[in-house]
Amino acid sequence: MTDDSGRDSMEDDDAQVRYDQARYVEDGQYEPLLSEKDLTRVDIGDGGDGIAPDDAESVDSPLPDDLTRDSLELPELSEPELARHYTRLSQMIYGIDSGPYPLGSCTMKYNPKFTEDVAALPPASVHPDRSERSVQGTLEVMYRLQDYLGRIGGMDAVTLQPPAGAAGEFVGIRVAAAYHEHNGEGHRDEVIIPESAHGTNFASAALGGYDVVSLPSDEDGRVDLEALESALSENTAALMLTNPNTLGLFERDIDEIAEMVHDVGGLLYYDGANLNALLGRARPGDMGFDVMHYNVHKTFATPHGGGGPGAGPVGVVDELAPFLPAPRVREGDQRTKSGEPTYELFEPEHTIGKVHGFHGNWLVLVKAFAYIARLGDEGLADASAKAVLNANYLASRLEYDVPYEPFHHEFVASAGDQDAADVAKRMLDYGVHPPTTKWPEIVPEALMTEPTEVESKDTLDRLAAAFNAVAAEDSETLANAPERTTARRIDQTSAARNPRLSWQALEEDES
Ligand SMILES: *Cc1c(COP(=O)(O)O)cnc(C)c1O
Repeated sequence: MTDDSGRDSMEDDDAQVRYDQARYVEDGQYEPLLSEKDLTRVDIGDGGDGIAPDDAESVDSPLPDDLTRDSLELPELSEPELARHYTRLSQMIYGIDSGPYPLGSCTMKYNPKFTEDVAALPPASVHPDRSERSVQGTLEVMYRLQDYLGRIGGMDAVTLQPPAGAAGEFVGIRVAAAYHEHNGEGHRDEVIIPESAHGTNFASAALGGYDVVSLPSDEDGRVDLEALESALSENTAALMLTNPNTLGLFERDIDEIAEMVHDVGGLLYYDGANLNALLGRARPGDMGFDVMHYNVHKTFATPHGGGGPGAGPVGVVDELAPFLPAPRVREGDQRTKSGEPTYELFEPEHTIGKVHGFHGNWLVLVKAFAYIARLGDEGLADASAKAVLNANYLASRLEYDVPYEPFHHEFVASAGDQDAADVAKRMLDYGVHPPTTKWPEIVPEALMTEPTEVESKDTLDRLAAAFNAVAAEDSETLANAPERTTARRIDQTSAARNPRLSWQALEEDES
């Protein structure tokens, strides 16, 4: 964010001010780091302005001298300076509260704020070490969420432990492995995954100890039954599928697929990231799936992005329930004095063990619970209807070609001769977030788009206008985009390979 001239001019306060002003004018939006605004040396243990208590000097540190310090440089800024700093930073990024965010597969939908209120209630923040008896309300919420998710997915038992979809996949695969092992079928060492699947599917299967057999799509973009037939064998542990798939296409042959997998003794895994399309209408369990994960941060509107936080509960059919991670929640034998059920944690008989500290990502789960409880059956069915309607309406307005149809809650357009990554950068100039790009690869220069159910017709029209404006532009304009954002073309490779994570490191680098 700061270039060489910026750092040189730090020597001199006046120059610093001039530099900041120049950047504001030049870039419109430049906001210095807190340490660029002010750095005051604070003595530790001097009892005066320092941060340590009066008698700090008398405490002998058990640490070696070279690991202790006497003073520290900290920004000393007033409250309004701080408030404005963070507000300006928040204005420099694009978020789900700024506008539409049609990242296909990732499901970035508006998160209603009432769920935050629920998660902020004091009873939601009980200490996880408290006795079961004293946190019956917490356990009841977990029990009811297990039940809601089970009914939504058509699954018999649910664990709330995994902290993300990918973690849920890993758990599901380990549960499948434990099940096969238990049945003396430990020789099964292959997991079949369609080419168009999300990258985490391949990673989870490999990390779970399996060889991955990748399955080509047929001309329609769906599972090729002949290819599946030849991939299946007595070594098949599972087939991982999402339905609708990442092209938004429903696997019409799902009954037959399930039968084929079960016939060779394999399990059918459902990647729940696309549950948005089915919510309240169809259930993976009824289609023959044996194990699935839910991305509550996608489907059930808990905030995510930038790496978290999320939750990826896993649901299974009865046969797999004894292998789920511990602990789960069930109704206890006793009743309260007023006759209400009590709840207790328990360890499934052949559990694969623990996969997360305590009870999973609890506050994320509370938000998902609040969202499901407020929407109810009707609201959830309405959400999936609108998710599908919005995707179809948006696609119908686009100049870009959408090769695979009919799709559900998301579609993959092709940028044709344009570079999909450039298209994405240019869309930022029109004040909207771009779709997911360049994946799945069966569509050239893919623009994988999922408007979600929360957007109005006006917003979808604005989004379509942005797509179409970019579709009409030449490659030079696209290559120079974005022009109107705070950060322009970021050198992502260097940022990933040579991350500078603190201002201090930046200064040292320079000397
Ligand atoms: C997002 C996604 C995942 C992974 O879920 P995370 O919660 O991001 O770990 C898996 N599969 C599909 C299809 C997805 O869209």
